[in-house]
Amino acid sequence: MRRVTIFGATGSIGQNTIDLIARDPEQYDVVALTGARNIAQLANDAISLRAEVAVTSEPSLLPALKQALAGSDVEAAAGPEALIEAAARPADWVMSAIVGAAGLAPGLRALEQGTCLALANKETLVCGGSLVLRTARDHKANLLPVDSEHSAVFQALVGENIDAVERIVITASGGAFRDHPIEALANVTVAEASSHPNWDMGQRITIDSASMFNKALELIETKEYFGISPDRIEAVIHPESLIHALVGFADGALMAHLGPPDMRHAIGYALNWPERTELPVDRLDLAKIGQLTFRDPDLQRYPALKLAREVMAAGGLTGAAFNAAKEIALDGFIDGRIGFLDMAEVVARVLDRMSSTDGLENAPFSLDNILSVDALARTRAKEAIATTYS
Ligand code: NAD
Ligand code: MG
Repeated sequence: MRRVTIFGATGSIGQNTIDLIARDPEQYDVVALTGARNIAQLANDAISLRAEVAVTSEPSLLPALKQALAGSDVEAAAGPEALIEAAARPADWVMSAIVGAAGLAPGLRALEQGTCLALANKETLVCGGSLVLRTARDHKANLLPVDSEHSAVFQALVGENIDAVERIVITASGGAFRDHPIEALANVTVAEASSHPNWDMGQRITIDSASMFNKALELIETKEYFGISPDRIEAVIHPESLIHALVGFADGALMAHLGPPDMRHAIGYALNWPERTELPVDRLDLAKIGQLTFRDPDLQRYPALKLAREVMAAGGLTGAAFNAAKEIALDGFIDGRIGFLDMAEVVARVLDRMSSTDGLENAPFSLDNILSVDALARTRAKEAIATTYS
């Protein structure tokens, strides 16, 4: 039996992970499941998978969780410290699928246990970069990418020497507005931005796909995870979302990873790694697909990509500031306080202000420093929204 824990179990990645685990209950012992507000889902899954503990990140929801678990053997816990405590419980494999920077601390705690961490939470690497990699190395913990592009690169690199890599190309669907007239982008609605042409995902990453803040985070994630210089990392629009990434080698070969847009592939690869076993995903019918198309992203349409280049060039804690400002800007768009294009404006403003005053490039990488930069960037982003858009 393998002991597994799922952070963000009630979300899109979490539910896909549970789908795979529940197909093979004899193989897995579930240690902890965590969620935020969806207590009914969290409790139901914890009971049916016989988890040791269910944790909600919301302290005020502890009584509701206790009530939902009444009569079962599952323990109930709540709050950020309870998430850390769940990460410290011995496990063989942990899925990191909280959305946002909130995923960083529990992921680090799991790595400190030497646990294999399957990383869907890209914010962990964007904010925690070298600290996360160092923690994994120091504790001999495996860190496996679950973001589909990074899983694809990881798979294309099996048996290869990273020094022979000339470039990494990650693909992007282009999101909800890839064919929208640019002039109309200022007025798109949250509902329009929340519908993805190819993938079924949580609302926040779906909107981030429309703005390409998701691809911006993924460029930074690629740099951090594979340790490759930013000028060797490209993003290309591939509307079919069937090639997830390509790795170009010194001899001119380009290795592409193809698969259906179903996250159970990348999750299952990380779950079964280093083996491959059968997964319940569709098989591609190439003749039916007919053709695959590509085009360069227009930086006017996707200013987030330009910001990502600046963040990669600056390095240090700039990633943490970028992500935190983006999270607040996204809240602002979802709450109707700012428009779709204002998100990139707000983030750019926060980065400008913080890079000139707050020494992001040179501050040492510690969890405390990351969390204080994260908090400061949130404050600055709220100020930018309040002063400009209210
Ligand atoms: P989601 O919104 O569907 O689920 C998020 C999960 O995190 C839920 O369980 C929620 O309860 C929990 N959560 C939310 N806020 C929290 C907080 N402050 N503290 C603790 N828990 C909290 O998100 P998702 O689409 O499953 O994405 C999860 C992560 O995986 C994100 O980092 C996303 O970028 C990444 N990712 C997702 C996909 C996808 O297909 N959905 C693909 C690649 C990467
Ligand atoms: Mg991705």
